[in-house]
Amino acid sequence: MGRLRRSRVHNARRDVHRASRTRVRTRDLDQIQMLDLDPKRRAELEAQPLDFEKPGLAQHYCVECAKYYETDAALTSHWRSKVHKRRCKQLKEPAYTIEESERAAGLGRAERRQPPTVAVGMQDVET
Ligand SMILES: [Zn+2]
Repeated sequence: MGRLRRSRVHNARRDVHRASRTRVRTRDLDQIQMLDLDPKRRAELEAQPLDFEKPGLAQHYCVECAKYYETDAALTSHWRSKVHKRRCKQLKEPAYTIEESERAAGLGRAERRQPPTVAVGMQDVET
């Protein structure tokens, strides 16, 4: 008698196609960090006018996760959830900027500072 069922077959099974649809695309972390977490903008987002297109008429919005909730109870339980806490942790880290990407590619300021020192060193060798 062989094994009738493989164990742990559902591990890490995610709907990849659904996650990549533009319809479900939310705001990026850096957008939230730079624009939405500003106190003025945050107050605006939390007190949105009634919108019949959005879930819960756009009255229960989580700024950190850029997500609408149906009821106040759903929103408060979301604030206590792991998903929201993980998101808050991610938002505390500094956003990936253009400067950082340039530094990684060797185009930033660190690269610009080096050539003069090399040139001085070469001059010393020549003289
Ligand atoms: Zn949240």
